[in-house]
Amino acid sequence: MKVLGFFAALFLLAAGTVQQTSAQETKIKWFGHAAFSITTPKGKVLLIDPWLSNPSNPEAKDGHDPLASLGKVDYILLTHGHRDHVGDAVEIAKRTGAALISNPELAANLVKLDDFPQKQAETDAIMGIGGEIKIADGEVTVAMTPAIHSSSVFNPKAGPNEPERAYGGDAAGFVIIIKDGPTIYHSGDTAYFKDMEIIGEEYQIDVALLNIGGHYGMEPRMAARAAKSVGAKLAIPQHYATSPDMTQTADGFAAELKRLRIPFYEMKPGETITFRGRQMMQKK
Ligand SMILES: [Zn+2]
Repeated sequence: MKVLGFFAALFLLAAGTVQQTSAQETKIKWFGHAAFSITTPKGKVLLIDPWLSNPSNPEAKDGHDPLASLGKVDYILLTHGHRDHVGDAVEIAKRTGAALISNPELAANLVKLDDFPQKQAETDAIMGIGGEIKIADGEVTVAMTPAIHSSSVFNPKAGPNEPERAYGGDAAGFVIIIKDGPTIYHSGDTAYFKDMEIIGEEYQIDVALLNIGGHYGMEPRMAARAAKSVGAKLAIPQHYATSPDMTQTADGFAAELKRLRIPFYEMKPGETITFRGRQMMQKK
């Protein structure tokens, strides 16, 4: 009986701990392609590269409006101006009042050419590579990191002899540091660069969301190398299988990570994972 009592006490202790920390959960949802939402322990919602109408998103299938189920959004983060990243940002901004986090050139051209709500694109959340900003009443720090890629904004108002693509500033990645939560790296569409090691030295990356689709950015082998360079404790693939010219599965990335002994998790489009503190909770 005494032994049972001891285990019962342990169980109660564990249950109590769970209850105490349940407010410290961070949720990451993948909508397919490069689009993620992050919900912080205090309930702030960040959307990254919100092309929610991408063909992989189950919420966009059969003519459904993928924005219909979207609740509140506090911030929209854009790594660069390409359409598969800006995606539905303008419409989401109009519906939610979310503030834009991007480089200033992209922000200004989205306002001028694509009718992004001006007030939401002119806050002190507009930033440059190398900078860090505190948002969400200090609960989140966003660092904009370098990326080797291009950036342009689609101009639907371009005349027949004007370029269809306007300047979009420099392409970037983001490190998102959440108080009582994980530190997340979103690589944008970057090529591999060796200075990713500096990102890893400067920030303790718990989870790296890495573009593995190749063709326009890192091929799976180099994406695995990026996971190693940033010191990712967990690597999650993104930006693949959305068009025929891209890598179609995460298998090659997974195999390479296995060789490098880096933990890997393959999200399904529409899936949400939960972190307690800096640790991802096991899926049931
Ligand atoms: Zn892209």
